[in-house]
Amino acid sequence: MSAGCGWEGRAFGAHYPDATCIDGVLWDMDSIDDDGMLHGGDRPCPHCCPHEVADNAALSGNARQRRVQRRALARKVKARAIAEAARWNVKLGGSRHA
Ligand SMILES: [Zn+2]
Repeated sequence: MSAGCGWEGRAFGAHYPDATCIDGVLWDMDSIDDDGMLHGGDRPCPHCCPHEVADNAALSGNARQRRVQRRALARKVKARAIAEAARWNVKLGGSRHA
């Protein structure tokens, strides 16, 4: 079912991994019912789509400064995502989308 990168971690406010990546967006695993997951789908995955996460961040400065900030932020977002997954012993798939 999951076509994401396999990332799981905390993203929806729980103290345990409550988010999973499906097709590059995060879904709330606490919202599962018969129809699937009801909550999520609007946040990019920090592991396979860190640049999309950075795109959503509020940046300041001129276009060049924002580009530099976005790149640095994407790196930080991805590093944080990898550390978060490692903390929960989540096995990450290949970085097909990276
Ligand atoms: Zn992902």
